[in-house]
Amino acid sequence: MTGAACRRGGTLIVLSGPSGAGKTSVYRALLAAHPEVSFSVSCTTRPPRPGERDGVDYHFLDRDAFQERVAAGDLLEYAEVHGNWYGTLRREVDAPLAEGRDVLLDIDVQGARQVRRVAAGTPLAAAATYVFCAPGSLDDLRRRLRARGTDAAAVIARRLQAAEAELAAWRDYDWLIVNEDGRLAQAVAHLEAILLACRCRTAAYRKEPWTP
Ligand code: 5GP
Repeated sequence: MTGAACRRGGTLIVLSGPSGAGKTSVYRALLAAHPEVSFSVSCTTRPPRPGERDGVDYHFLDRDAFQERVAAGDLLEYAEVHGNWYGTLRREVDAPLAEGRDVLLDIDVQGARQVRRVAAGTPLAAAATYVFCAPGSLDDLRRRLRARGTDAAAVIARRLQAAEAELAAWRDYDWLIVNEDGRLAQAVAHLEAILLACRCRTAAYRKEPWTP
């Protein structure tokens, strides 16, 4: 990092949205364009989908190992989502933020609420910004969930049901991106705009941005 960027603290982008809103495609494109942004690899008890890699997409744990992480206080937040446990490791957030790097969290609305709660009154509150990714329509969402083809019908049905409850939380977020079918580039551009705007917040600066 050079110039003003060295004087800036990292932004914590908390991204939520229902399964099928396409948020994975959106943030993957952002991370490809901004490799300096650190993705927080969550722990989960969900089994890996084909192509998913341990330590890259998730840290895949069994339920006992997950409970050990909880008991050790290693998780910033955790929640049961669609019948499996998911949690954010503190070290995935604290280490890059301490280096002034931006961090992106892909977590559900329960997890985002917990982050807001634990961040209150700490430096994390100034670093965090909350982004909701919504589908263009419920039809888009259903189509995407079915097209994924890796989940069983019962799993898809459960995710569809959960999606409506999750969508209701959109107003709790600072920013909204709508990922309409066939308009991925637009959603990615909006997420990038949020990242760039957050980097320009005066509150992001630990000291004056200019060289003395
Ligand atoms: P998936 O199983 O499709 O990868 O993820 C299912 C849901 O779990 C998504 O809404 C995703 O945002 C959420 N999720 C992933 N990691 C975490 C986490 O660490 N904490 C919480 N609370 N939710 C997570």
